[in-house]
Amino acid sequence: MADQSYFPEGQLISVLTAEPIDRFLDYKAPEGGCFEGAFVEAPLGPRKVLGVVWGPGEGRFDAAKIRRVSRVMDVAPMRGEMRDFLIRAGQYTLTPLSQMLRLATRAPGLMNPPSMRKVYRLGTGDPDRITDARTRVMQVLKDHGGAAFTLKELAEAADTGPTVVKGLVKQGVVQEIDAPRDVAFPRLDPDLGGITLSPEQAEASAALCESVDSGQYNTTLLKGVTGSGKTETYMEAIAACLRKGRQALVLLPEIALTAEFLTRVHARFGARPAEWHSGVTMTDRRRTWRMVGEGGAELVVGARSALFLPFRDLGLIIVDEEHDGSYKQEEGVLYNARDMSVLRASLCSASVILASATPSLETWSNAQSGKYNRVNLTSRFGVAEMPDMRAIDMRMEKLPASRWISPTLAKAVERRLDAGEQSLLFINRRGYAPTTVCRACGEQVGCDFCDARMVEHRFQNRLICHQCGESKPVPEACPSCEVEGKMAPVGPGVERLAEEVTERFPDARIALLSSDLFGSARALKERIESIAAGEADIIVGTQLVAKGHNFPLLTLVGVIDADLGLQGSDLRAAERTFQLMRQVAGRAGRSERRGVALLQTFQPDHPVIRAILSGDEEGFWRAECGERQQAAVPPFGRLAGIILSAEDAQQVFEFAGEMARRDGPLQAIGAQLFGPAPAPIARVRGRHRVRMLIKADKAAPLQRAIGQWTGQFRIPNAIRIAVDIDPVNFF
Ligand code: ADP
Ligand code: ZN
Repeated sequence: MADQSYFPEGQLISVLTAEPIDRFLDYKAPEGGCFEGAFVEAPLGPRKVLGVVWGPGEGRFDAAKIRRVSRVMDVAPMRGEMRDFLIRAGQYTLTPLSQMLRLATRAPGLMNPPSMRKVYRLGTGDPDRITDARTRVMQVLKDHGGAAFTLKELAEAADTGPTVVKGLVKQGVVQEIDAPRDVAFPRLDPDLGGITLSPEQAEASAALCESVDSGQYNTTLLKGVTGSGKTETYMEAIAACLRKGRQALVLLPEIALTAEFLTRVHARFGARPAEWHSGVTMTDRRRTWRMVGEGGAELVVGARSALFLPFRDLGLIIVDEEHDGSYKQEEGVLYNARDMSVLRASLCSASVILASATPSLETWSNAQSGKYNRVNLTSRFGVAEMPDMRAIDMRMEKLPASRWISPTLAKAVERRLDAGEQSLLFINRRGYAPTTVCRACGEQVGCDFCDARMVEHRFQNRLICHQCGESKPVPEACPSCEVEGKMAPVGPGVERLAEEVTERFPDARIALLSSDLFGSARALKERIESIAAGEADIIVGTQLVAKGHNFPLLTLVGVIDADLGLQGSDLRAAERTFQLMRQVAGRAGRSERRGVALLQTFQPDHPVIRAILSGDEEGFWRAECGERQQAAVPPFGRLAGIILSAEDAQQVFEFAGEMARRDGPLQAIGAQLFGPAPAPIARVRGRHRVRMLIKADKAAPLQRAIGQWTGQFRIPNAIRIAVDIDPVNFF
């Protein structure tokens, strides 16, 4: 295998490090030699850095000065396909390879020797005297025939303290041994759980399993309304993958969702999978990273960066809620995990399943053109049906100032309260009020560092900038005219809506769900479980509730401002509103009771609102596709955003102007350059931002041209430049 080229001790090798250096470095192979792909520790100046042996050395440096790699690390070498993936993903996103390697090695302590810990199992000695606690410890160890426990696990299982265990260790009754901390994850049993699928689900599952069994690259759109059993169906594809002895990866958009998902995996396969997201401890991250490489983790459930784990034999990638905006990373390496999943799978002969009730237009159109397969689940499982959807025409409703619940919606909520059913009132805006205005002079409180208005958060009792996170107390006096006591909130946020709900329905139990009110994913999960169990009558929430949670008692969804998403100027405004409204509406009536979704809108005749109400999804996508085709924008053309920023506004504008004037390489491929213009958010964290937009034909070699274009300039240190291929957001 090409993977296996071996470099004997002293031979010249080329090493890629994760340091911000724009080239490979030459070293000599260490004592004992090394293989291509090996992770090594290499001296760089006074430091030791992590690197990967990329191939034979280039020999362009003075051989006498070339240093020797310190050692080969005790982790699985990087496979050829992983190196290809990093190269291709780096080329696509115009990211230096060293930065790609950093993305692929984001586990702490990879350079440390395998860490050990003490574990306990049954020894051979006899205790000098018997106590209840001692008996329990011995019983636990006997019950688990030979299994080893950590001190904490054992003490807890025996309902006693660690000193009791330690006492037994002294007498040889319990053995204390050193074991490596990073051990394989429990095996999953593909034949354990499994439910009886409906005929439609069974057909879908058969198609997915066949794709996995082919052992070839393929991508399938799994489209089905919320509750139609997409998860149950793709679990069978995971089972098929495990049976082949290959690894599977499930990407989820929201940390909060993994808890429920892990429980389902446990029920289906008899053990929990490995996890990879920001809530995972450092030791667990390292264990997962290592075990994925060694094959000791069969299934990984994680956030987008799990795609860069060093899988040994990845056979299936599932991107659940594939339309979700959080798959696009907006900082550092600007990549879309959905698109990169397809790339990765194509390099390792894996299948991809893109699951959604409301797929992205890109995916929908790839399925239309036959590039992706498509599998549909058309009905909800059991008796649950899609809710009845209706508009509330806000032009006809009478509302007092600073109130947002229309009389029609309020009546619907009251009926649910009488029937003992739940209602959800949805508004996609965190905080109390989006704007704080001085009633004396009209001044709006803005962020000192960004061009954004500060949002009042009443629970924290502060104004917060949603752009940079800066916060300050709500001022007593106007920062501009200094008149006191005139500062007033304007517009609704979720907290303010909750206040209105409390006033209107004083006897109802109200649950407020907004991402910034929960300190941890666990706290959020517990709250959601209690709501699902019926411990609330009215749920007031943001986007957070739009995603996958199951509330069986919920029969009414009220969307406070269905027009909110339509106001944005960006390419995907219609698509996003459509998806969000469908998802929120999908929360209602997930069990026996039929649900109703009411959308408050001032534009009931807007095409997007009409498509939502009529439920003609295919019609919506076809129309939206037509619009985009006409405008030659994605997926029918290509876009790249260029964002320049600097503390000095004039400097950044002048530099951007210079770049725009010398756009020869872009012209050469027929691409158009728009801008420079101040970014919609023109200042973030004190840096002035300028955007340019490049538009090209679908087939044009966009990345190469952008590389040539930016390569013409020496970018001053004070200016930062980011290239965003296939931008999702335009801020
Ligand atoms: P989706 O992922 O499309 O939202 P799920 O797979 O989560 O749908 O299914 C919704 C609910 O219906 C879940 O509680 C699931 O366990 C249940 N369900 C779906 N299909 C079946 C089935 N064939 N038998 C029993 N329960 C099912
Ligand atoms: Zn700010």
